[in-house]
Amino acid sequence: MNKYDSEIIAGLLTSEGYRITEKEEEATVYLINTCSVREHAEKRALGRIGTLSHWKRHNPQRKLGVIGCMAQRMGETLFIQKPFLDFILGPDEYSKLPDLIANGHQEHCTEISLHGIESYSTIEPKRRSGIDGFVAVSRGCNNYCSYCIVPYTRGRERSRPIHDILDEIEKMIDENYVEVTLLGQNVNTYNDGQHDFADLLQQVNNIAGIHRIRFMTSHPKDLTDKILQTVASSEKVCPHLHLPLQSGSDPILSKMNRGYTRKEYTNLVDRARRVIPDVSITSDIMVGFPGETETDFQETVRLMKDVLFDDAFTYRYSPREGTKAFQMNDDVSEQKKRHRLDQIIKLQRQISFKKRQNLIGRCIEVLPEKTSKQSPDEWMGKTPGDHVVIFPKKHIRLGQPVKVLIESCRGSTLRGKILNCKTGNN
Ligand code: SF4
Repeated sequence: MNKYDSEIIAGLLTSEGYRITEKEEEATVYLINTCSVREHAEKRALGRIGTLSHWKRHNPQRKLGVIGCMAQRMGETLFIQKPFLDFILGPDEYSKLPDLIANGHQEHCTEISLHGIESYSTIEPKRRSGIDGFVAVSRGCNNYCSYCIVPYTRGRERSRPIHDILDEIEKMIDENYVEVTLLGQNVNTYNDGQHDFADLLQQVNNIAGIHRIRFMTSHPKDLTDKILQTVASSEKVCPHLHLPLQSGSDPILSKMNRGYTRKEYTNLVDRARRVIPDVSITSDIMVGFPGETETDFQETVRLMKDVLFDDAFTYRYSPREGTKAFQMNDDVSEQKKRHRLDQIIKLQRQISFKKRQNLIGRCIEVLPEKTSKQSPDEWMGKTPGDHVVIFPKKHIRLGQPVKVLIESCRGSTLRGKILNCKTGNN
């Protein structure tokens, strides 16, 4: 979502005559888009801002701004830590950027109101060039998972009108994009008053010129059978669900305010696998939430072994001020958190490797996304199930779907060769 927001900001400013530069010394305005989800992300952003003090000092006419969730969360306290900053802008205030930059007199400006209505629907994002692009369908979140800062930094959930989304995707086709990823903090609850998320998927599926549709992030409590059926029946919607589990322990899920039990989660996975052939399921898993005992942790491990995710993003709990969990006793030691994280990383690596090995010998459609880092003569592409495949370029063009016979698996990468074959899809 932050990447998409950066594209929105780039679109907004280029429409006002600004130009994007990769060269720091050439820039007259420097914007740092920040994330607040984990403490680590904020520490890195603060470190980066610190290194820019010399850039600002070199020419005080330059404008240095911090935008996004950390700007929203920290507000004016950022000026105490980094007095050389010019402005701080929250995720609902990007439309003020052109005025703010143009106003050369005002110092230390803070704009962090959460309006709960802003969806930037009229701004055309300036995307990086490529074949796949993001489109936000909703913003904000109403779920208040007890560990999560997002509802406080991005506000309540609101959906964009369906016609704005469809128009944006139509324009992407003119710019040669063939894959679109629909984004929402909780994308499944998209509703513009007349259309739900399944309706949206169907309508995007009807757009000629788009070859693949992905979406994220799904919330297990809101992934309805109607959505599953729509994914199964819409030929362009990829059979891939990113379905954050967070914990396999019921008491911890309840303390996290996730709104489902482990049984409900595994039932959902079973239903998804029954309804969507070859569906690939990935997840987010957290260790060390307050009160997580060894038994709770082993429940997570057991669930991972039962469900066998294709891949998972794993991380340690870090307290976020302002959330409900911040009031809880962060009683799992850092050492224990690291040890548990190491265990699930190792486990998931083994599972993911086996899952990828199962694809060897299959003929799968791959969409070439860019030249492989390993060789200029090879493409890096992805399967509908989001597996990375390297294969020889031959006569295939960027963004041209091709059937590839998977021949081997090394680390997280599959290798294959172009083949005309009839079986298999993932
Ligand atoms: S669903 Fe929960 S974890 Fe996801 S953004 Fe909303 S509050 Fe945060």
